[in-house]
Amino acid sequence: MPLSLRFVARTDTGLRRSNNQDSGYASSRLIAVADGMGGAAAGDLASATALNIVRAVDPNLATDGADETEADPRAALLQAVRDANRRLGEIVAADPSVDGMGTTLEAMLWTGEHFVTAHIGDSRAYRLRDGELTQLSSDHTFVQSLVDEGKLTTEEARVHPHRSLLLRVMLGRPDNEPDIDRLDGQAGDRYLLCSDGLTDMVSDANIASALAEDDIDQAADRLIELALAGGGFDNVTVVIGELVDDAEPADAQLVGAAADAPRRRDPDPSTTATLAPPPDPEELRYSYVPPTRTRWLRTGAVVALVILGLVFGAVGLYQWSQRQYFVGASDGHVAIFRGVQADVPLVSVHHVDTVTDIPVAKLPEYPRRQVTEGIEAMSRADAERTVADLRAQLPKPKPKPKPAPATPSPSTEPTTP
Ligand code: CA
Repeated sequence: MPLSLRFVARTDTGLRRSNNQDSGYASSRLIAVADGMGGAAAGDLASATALNIVRAVDPNLATDGADETEADPRAALLQAVRDANRRLGEIVAADPSVDGMGTTLEAMLWTGEHFVTAHIGDSRAYRLRDGELTQLSSDHTFVQSLVDEGKLTTEEARVHPHRSLLLRVMLGRPDNEPDIDRLDGQAGDRYLLCSDGLTDMVSDANIASALAEDDIDQAADRLIELALAGGGFDNVTVVIGELVDDAEPADAQLVGAAADAPRRRDPDPSTTATLAPPPDPEELRYSYVPPTRTRWLRTGAVVALVILGLVFGAVGLYQWSQRQYFVGASDGHVAIFRGVQADVPLVSVHHVDTVTDIPVAKLPEYPRRQVTEGIEAMSRADAERTVADLRAQLPKPKPKPKPAPATPSPSTEPTTP
């Protein structure tokens, strides 16, 4: 009897976030996690769109994608991720208010004989085999690139202030390509896909012991508990697949933003218990999530503070704002700003503190976008660390041509009349 997956998907908004931008999917043939981002845009729309397109490759579903999967699983999964990315680009092109949204994607497709895996971003895949936990994916982050170069230890990377700076993620741009790999599996293996809301909060040792709980439902509950106990700063999603030769047939599970989106259109919660086929991409294209109002709220908060400041002492407010920093762009260069990132009519709440020699245009795409939108800093030192990180991402300069020989030949000497 061929092996198949026993599976579970769980998600939690966490203790600090107001909405869940993660999505998760699990069935006997496919497990997947997408972690949406773009606070001012629509991270939940990004992760739901990507996950709903990618899950169409599940051979359990009666869709065209499922047929293609049986024919060529690797090509089908790669094409699904590319389709999802292209769709994100189309949504952004049609509605600039969601520009900046993006999502990670972690997917493992079981062909019946081996896995095909897709990975882009900083969500992770782990395997527990014979009690030993192995991280299967390598984060597409700035700090991971430093670890790979030997400039940072894994422990230092865990607490690095810019550990969430992504080098590759799905933003709807043509170069957002996933890693596609093949992986052998054996009976008894447990596979965990998770968003960084788990791995930022819980050590690998604790993930290993939770994943080894008697059954995978307990393991998933325990992992969510640990993430919340660790602070719950982010949405946390865990999807577990266990390779067994006697899996009971069970309905696929869809959690997080991908499951919430249909609920917004249909208030009957019972409709989310059974999974509809993945939504028609044409429909998805128009099912926008309204952009969050964070920027306006922030501007509103600053306006309120300004009025309060006028009443209770503008000097104190100004001093407060001048202790705030962020990194942004000034005349095409990365610059440290003092003050707060907000546009308040008639009042200047920030000014350029230092302009660096880093041309914004020379930065890779993702950090460039972050700079354009502004990167908040906890202090001046923090802003300087951000600048140093950005500098490290500049393309290496080409080596200079070798200097001319020390003894100049008369024929090449310039002649002066
Ligand atoms: Ca996250």
